[in-house]
Amino acid sequence: PLVLGIETSCDETGIGIVRGHTLLADAVASSVEEHARFGGVVPEVASRAHLEAMVPTLQRACDDAGIVLSDVDAIAVTAGPGLAGALLVGVAAAKSLSIALEKPLYGVNHLAAHVAVDQLEHGALPDPCLAMLVSGGHSSLLRVDDVTTSVTPLGATIDDAAGEAFDKVARLLGLPFPGGPHIDRVAREGNSVAIDFPRGLTSRKDLERHRFDFSFSGLKTAVARWVEAREASGEPVPVADVAAAFQEAVVDVLTRKAIDAAASEGIEDILIGGGVAANSRLRFLAEERAAAKGIRVRVPRPGLCTDNGAMVAVLGSEMVARGRVPSPLDLPADSSMPVDLILR
Ligand code: ATP
Ligand code: MG
Ligand code: FE
Repeated sequence: PLVLGIETSCDETGIGIVRGHTLLADAVASSVEEHARFGGVVPEVASRAHLEAMVPTLQRACDDAGIVLSDVDAIAVTAGPGLAGALLVGVAAAKSLSIALEKPLYGVNHLAAHVAVDQLEHGALPDPCLAMLVSGGHSSLLRVDDVTTSVTPLGATIDDAAGEAFDKVARLLGLPFPGGPHIDRVAREGNSVAIDFPRGLTSRKDLERHRFDFSFSGLKTAVARWVEAREASGEPVPVADVAAAFQEAVVDVLTRKAIDAAASEGIEDILIGGGVAANSRLRFLAEERAAAKGIRVRVPRPGLCTDNGAMVAVLGSEMVARGRVPSPLDLPADSSMPVDLILR
């Protein structure tokens, strides 16, 4: 089937077009620069940007794919979780298209879409697989038995998301927003063992209750204290070392827990998704540690890790292929859509 996917859960307006597992177009308009001076995504600004970008992005995707809208067999859209006002823009656009084209509508879960997207790059998902989603808004470990019907949460962050920690620490170091790519780059010149930052929820006691959960707010505070102490002493802050040591602390815990979760579930394939999956050190360490345990790691290319429409389209395509019942036309946007609810 030819499926059009719409993504507006955060600050990217994404329109993707796929045929089966083949990507035909992936047009993304980001409002990230409009949020930069605020140091984080401003919901109202994001909603307005989606409204402005929707029609031109839709047009661009159709042009790139060499199709006209009437060729489309189904419309998929992110129904949640995400920013309420931002989601509404995408859901309204999807409903309009569904009505105008008389084609079925599939309101899907953004997190399941982050998992499904890897099929565009590496083919059908092994089931079960263990998915680690790490982005600006999420840090979760999921057991995926069927990306259209069965996703089970194993753990998640109890405070900040991994990407949020990258963004906050980058700000502290005077690096631009969003900070993840800047920390990744700067850290290459730094010494990751120069400073020993805390690994959240890894003590024996914490592991009893939070074996597969994450915590990054203590780490962020530890970095802030360390930098403040340095500044107070009048010495220059070794930005590259701080970035490298911070990144190592995040990536160490993420890879350890993902591999532990896979091993304890008897799963041999780990899939990493979300914006932080673009991190070069995370990709390297995950590969290295997983290989030592006979576990395979799949990571989509960076452009498919961050929010985009292609991930929604390919999940929609899977829904059609597996004969799932479409969503009603009064499909609500669900800002806190639970992880295990895949189709709304
Ligand atoms: P959501 O959480 O709803 O998916 P989002 O816009 O926050 O929305 P993404 O677009 O998937 O999520 O990812 C953006 C996040 O990824 C930002 O926090 C950014 O700093 C982080 N990020 C991007 N590239 C890298 C990188 N190379 N290393 C670390 N973090 C990165
Ligand atoms: Mg984003
Ligand atoms: Fe996302």
